[in-house]
Amino acid sequence: MLEHLSDRINNLPTSQTLAMAAKARELKEQGKDIIGLSLGEPDFNTPDFIKDAAIQAINDNYNSYSPVNGYAELREAICRKFQRDNNITYIPNQIVVSTGAKQSIANVAQVLLNPGDEVLLPAPYWVSYSAIAILSEATFVEIPSTIETDFKITPEQLEAAITPKTKLIFFNSPNNPSGTVFSEEEFRALAKVLEKYPNIYIISDEIYEHINYGTPNFSFAAIENMYDRTITVNGVAKAFAMTGWRIGYIGAPEWIAKACTKMQGQITSGANCIAQRATITALDAPVSKIQYMVDEFKIRRDLILDLLGKIKGIETNIAQGAFYVFPDVSYYFGKTIQGKTINSASDFAMLLLEKANVATVTGEAFGAPDCIRISYAASQENIIEAIKRISNVLG
Ligand code: GLU
Repeated sequence: MLEHLSDRINNLPTSQTLAMAAKARELKEQGKDIIGLSLGEPDFNTPDFIKDAAIQAINDNYNSYSPVNGYAELREAICRKFQRDNNITYIPNQIVVSTGAKQSIANVAQVLLNPGDEVLLPAPYWVSYSAIAILSEATFVEIPSTIETDFKITPEQLEAAITPKTKLIFFNSPNNPSGTVFSEEEFRALAKVLEKYPNIYIISDEIYEHINYGTPNFSFAAIENMYDRTITVNGVAKAFAMTGWRIGYIGAPEWIAKACTKMQGQITSGANCIAQRATITALDAPVSKIQYMVDEFKIRRDLILDLLGKIKGIETNIAQGAFYVFPDVSYYFGKTIQGKTINSASDFAMLLLEKANVATVTGEAFGAPDCIRISYAASQENIIEAIKRISNVLG
């Protein structure tokens, strides 16, 4: 009956991050001892002070539809956060709160893109950017990068990828999946190119901003002449261990925010009212309140890099943020391991799942076919055990 489904859905790839997580869950239910390192999801509980705010919101009877773009108090809190952390000035009418940063991005794509428009994706990029472009009937153009340049594109590469059809470009720093953090200087050099092309808009996805181990975070919209065409995306999922609460938001030029509100008004309405109230508390709290999670992620990053570094043929960059490592595993292509011939990163990820019982995600889904993504948002014990198993399989 697939032919009865729309071309839209038939042409849409499945999210590989979620698919791998589902597969790992399924195998676990069958009794297999799987270590899941596929999903980017903090293994911490939401901090108590945020949970308390949600309980208070329930008791205060926050149970009705919220304004489509989010409660005014939340949009004010988001403006304070942007000023405090990012040096960007927004007013509440420039903010739209959505059901996760994924919806924020999908809204922007839907309101900006026409069929045939081109979306530039510096690779590696998060799996859903390309799918969201496809859903908007745009085409996506990858700008490749490799581990040699710490997965950073150059201004020359950017310029070469631009055509008259280019409408949108995605930046994501700290990056999922590579952990790369762009410096202010690097972003300013890319902005110099974009200055010449006033019809290109920029989505700056900063969802991992607080999970950063040193390089200061820099927001693209803080570049004076980029402010009017940058949409800054953020949310509470990663920094506050609130993935399931589904709260993302944008700061954008008012006309884009208004269009996103119109779009959202027809498909989901305002985001969950209780989660919105709790988000006010989360964003108004000093960042020091979540530092314990970042400190632990850094310990795990050092641990996993150290362990992977001992395995022959696995090459890693030093991730500066987020909670992923993105090793190049192409050394294994063409080799046969435990009866399985490895011809791609997907084969390699399947080998790890089947023979080591470790779930990762193929780099192909991120536009980087030589790599796999390993999430270290897992206990140190699980990280040690997983890398031991991988090492045993690879011999
Ligand atoms: N963003 C996380 C990841 O990359 C969660 C899953 C998803 O939405 O892709 O693993």
